[in-house]
Amino acid sequence: MSTARETPNTDEDAEPEELESIDVFWLPGEGCDGCSVATLGATDPGIEDLLRGQVPHLPKINLHHHELAVESGKAYVDGMRDAVAGERDPYVVVVEGSVPNERLIDGDGYWISMGKDENGEPVKMVDWLDRLAPGAAAVIAIGTCAAWGGVPAAQGNLTDAMGTMDYLGRDYRSQLDLPVINVPGCAPVGDNFIETVAHLLLHIGGFGPPLELDELGRPKWLFGETVHRHCNRGSYYEEGSFAEEYGSEKCLVSKGCWGPTVKCNMPSRRNLAGVGGCMNVGGKCIGCTMPGFPDKFTPFFKKAPGAMISTTSSKILGGIMSRLRRNSMKKLDRSTRWEESGGVTERLYQWQLKRGSNYDPDRGLERRPGTGDD
Ligand code: SF4
Ligand code: SF4
Repeated sequence: MSTARETPNTDEDAEPEELESIDVFWLPGEGCDGCSVATLGATDPGIEDLLRGQVPHLPKINLHHHELAVESGKAYVDGMRDAVAGERDPYVVVVEGSVPNERLIDGDGYWISMGKDENGEPVKMVDWLDRLAPGAAAVIAIGTCAAWGGVPAAQGNLTDAMGTMDYLGRDYRSQLDLPVINVPGCAPVGDNFIETVAHLLLHIGGFGPPLELDELGRPKWLFGETVHRHCNRGSYYEEGSFAEEYGSEKCLVSKGCWGPTVKCNMPSRRNLAGVGGCMNVGGKCIGCTMPGFPDKFTPFFKKAPGAMISTTSSKILGGIMSRLRRNSMKKLDRSTRWEESGGVTERLYQWQLKRGSNYDPDRGLERRPGTGDD
């Protein structure tokens, strides 16, 4: 049983009373568990820090995760039953993987279940979501499948898979008056998720403001800007210099990068502990955080629409800019002293540069054959 307060402290004059612990119920939908793996890799803070309650002012998390839990069977689902009965307030629900449409096969089995009811019948994952969502302080959808439907909802979509927001409704509001909080990515950056959880817990504990979310429930500070804006290849794009083959350090829009129109902070946050992340390691953006992923971004190796226009104009304008910059660089590569001395020192400098390639420390400057220099 959680020792938590029931509601966040809203009295500005009162000292917030620390929330000791909070239950987090992890519901598995249709996914690959990549989001769980990403969460385990987070470092800023790490999930272990939250589980041990080692982050100041953050309550200790009681994580109910189907793969990480020590309990199993009835002991595992009892926690969720207590929460449904109102005995675990406040609690948070995390959905990983897309939500299947169980009505499609009503009476003919089920897509996903967790535990059994009093009659020994499997309890569907969507039934747990229906029961837990109304009383939750917040519902977080981790990863693109849980947020928008993702890969299981791609063309064909046998299970009529959908995102959590589509399942619960755009007008769903948690006990804290929050819509479904979406932290997309396939897989998401683990630190994006943990940071969102940490921010939420500070708010629940009365130590922080509400999360700033965009119109699709994404944390604004994480998904407010395009990949392109922070990409370390941006200057190549601006100069009209595009990769002709993989392995090039140049801009990858020529190879089908969607960075200019995709919202994701991967280039600046990087994948894990400040290391890696798509373009940083030679990959291009395939739009994995976006609601239209994957259908709107396939085939992945085709140039994005509009890329031809932007690359052509960038090549023309960027080409002119690069030439002008090269001239400026030449000028800036000389000291003012060299230029102020009436050009004599400057000429001497240029003469030395020309001969520099022939310089041998033992023999000094030598005549370069055929140059006429003396
Ligand atoms: S690689 Fe992609 S994100 Fe980076 S500069 Fe080029 S188009 Fe933009
Ligand atoms: S940069 Fe693009 S492909 Fe990489 S994680 Fe972000 S949205 Fe996905």
